[in-house]
Amino acid sequence: MSTPSPQFRGPRPRAHIRDIPAYVPGKPPTPRPGLTAYKLSSNENPYPPLPGVVEASTRAVEVMNRYPDMGSVALYEALGRHLGVPVDHLAAGTGSVALIYQLLQAFCEPGDEVVYAWRSFEAYPIAVTAAGARSVQVPLRADGHHDLEAMAAAITERTRVVMVCTPNNPTGPAVTQAELDRFLAAVPAHVVAVVDEAYLEFVRMPDAVDGLATYRAHPNVVLFRTFSKAYGLAGFRVGYAVAQPEVAGALRAVSLPFGVSSVAQAAALASLEASEALLERVDALVAERDRVGAALREAGWDVPDAQGNFVWFALGDRSAEFAAACDDAGIVVRPFAGEGCRVTVGEVEANDRLVEVARAFAPA
Ligand SMILES: *Cc1c(COP(=O)(O)O)cnc(C)c1O
Repeated sequence: MSTPSPQFRGPRPRAHIRDIPAYVPGKPPTPRPGLTAYKLSSNENPYPPLPGVVEASTRAVEVMNRYPDMGSVALYEALGRHLGVPVDHLAAGTGSVALIYQLLQAFCEPGDEVVYAWRSFEAYPIAVTAAGARSVQVPLRADGHHDLEAMAAAITERTRVVMVCTPNNPTGPAVTQAELDRFLAAVPAHVVAVVDEAYLEFVRMPDAVDGLATYRAHPNVVLFRTFSKAYGLAGFRVGYAVAQPEVAGALRAVSLPFGVSSVAQAAALASLEASEALLERVDALVAERDRVGAALREAGWDVPDAQGNFVWFALGDRSAEFAAACDDAGIVVRPFAGEGCRVTVGEVEANDRLVEVARAFAPA
């Protein structure tokens, strides 16, 4: 946040609140006359909602004078059936971002350390600082993969939480089950191990992580999942965690009462019922991702293995220049100054434009 003015005589927030970094959201596209503009800056699902999901949400809108079901009972039961887990192993929240906050609030004392890869999901340092904990950021390998050995080595007496983002936002690679198993064997039992699976449904690789088998084998593992990406409900804010009941119960205990709105609960329920149709769309996005990746490699770009719904260009100093070239072509991407650009896989036309811009923009 910005530094308070010295003239201000009112209340001061706790000291660490000043250190919370700002979240930089993906920009909307710049309108270009005669050109459809596309937003590829927030890893959103380009498909509009299914009619059944819209209808279920609309029915929920009609009772907006009532509070939502605080226990999200129907949603928990449907998730439990869908995943094959008992409902007390679940915690629903207003997006998995909220669950990250809840986890840190429930498990970290001030000054405790949270180990995660960097660069990774932008919300991690914000949530860690907001909780009064300390970020220990372990650089990714040059190929955009987590360096799990270095992360294990970064665990100290003060570490309470480690977070593995797989596939990693914004670089794209996912860890394998063998890599995760080796890492978890090095994480002490009292340290919470988060596996952030926001892009789980997009993963297509040998030895992919089986999150459910992993949390069953490790009492300290928490899976974070979301309806925002594959299920296309980013605007409604609903995600969930899967963990042993002691851990899931702590996440529920610190949740905002009535946080997940009636509309979000209804949309999530209808989406679970429609998961077959939604996962077909994910297949189409995965095919597009792989088409784009192949075209970029053919054009000489050394892009990391993309296992989410986005591709990463490690552009260093040329990130802003590349983002501007994309903007001129009517696609808005997400630049990370001095590091690279993340581009969401979107509509076919938008993906074609990305490939065109990348072909014209010679790789370093
Ligand atoms: C998008 C994303 C989330 C999910 O965010 P929601 O709050 O559920 O919308 C979580 N983790 C990562 C790494 C993400 O990219």
